[in-house]
Amino acid sequence: MKNVKLSDIKVLFDETTIQNRIKEVASKLNDSYKDEEVCVICVLKGAVMFATDLVKSLTMPLTMEFIRLSSYGHSTSTSGKVNAVDIKLPDLTDKNVLIVEDIIDTGLTAKFLLDFIASNFRTKSTKFVSLLDKKCSRQVDVKSDEYCFEIDDKFVVGYGLDYDGKFRNLRFIGYADKSILK
Ligand code: 5GP
Repeated sequence: MKNVKLSDIKVLFDETTIQNRIKEVASKLNDSYKDEEVCVICVLKGAVMFATDLVKSLTMPLTMEFIRLSSYGHSTSTSGKVNAVDIKLPDLTDKNVLIVEDIIDTGLTAKFLLDFIASNFRTKSTKFVSLLDKKCSRQVDVKSDEYCFEIDDKFVVGYGLDYDGKFRNLRFIGYADKSILK
């Protein structure tokens, strides 16, 4: 991995833009669930910032679960294999399940998770919300019910997303030119 510095990163979405858009997405979810209870599943580590900000604007009663998947390892492209690092969940039978992800790229992680939930639980409903959607990179047919921003084929960092474990703490979402990462 390259030693990428903060100064190498260009802003794609600033803090205000992110927070305003999250409130819009939360408002749509509030309208759709009304007062029904929801189990929010945050996919660690990348979705941690998004999930914690999103739930602050949700108004229905909710519980939160945290699971950990990985598909990238120490790389900027998927290994093609989703690794369930920790996927312990309570019984989700008859629950409204809202999966919160950082980004859908190839779609392999989202598909793995949706298949896992469908084959283990008869939920009342299952929705998928992602902060970012890289539709141009899709390898499997999967889509989110809601997403905040669509992006093109960039490797993004910040606001939960990392490069070699770093930059998750940034308040903005940014990217480094591919020439810097190679
Ligand atoms: P997928 O399985 O859809 O290819 O990838 C999903 C996972 O890959 C995401 O949850 C995220 O952890 C990682 N990922 C995909 N694209 C990016 C990116 O541009 N930046 C970062 N930091 N991670 C990414």
